Amino acid sequence: MEIPSFKEDHISHTPKGKIILNPELIKSPKGCIEYVIIHELCHLIHHNHTQKFIDLQINEMKDWEKWKMKLEKLLA
Ligand SMILES: [Zn+2]
Repeated sequence: MEIPSFKEDHISHTPKGKIILNPELIKSPKGCIEYVIIHELCHLIHHNHTQKFIDLQINEMKDWEKWKMKLEKLLA
């Protein structure tokens, strides 16, 4: 079983599913904030980054990748 690297994310993943919003994130566009929240909510169901997780995320936010990229640029 492959263990995904959570380090790839700029979002804080905490073991108990607590959502930590970085202060920089608060200033980000609404779509970026929504992406982070959706990402974390999807983790309540899938505690990893498997295809099932991605599928769920797509279901909730079709253009999540666009926002993830925007967010990464902002937080870089
Ligand atoms: Zn994640």
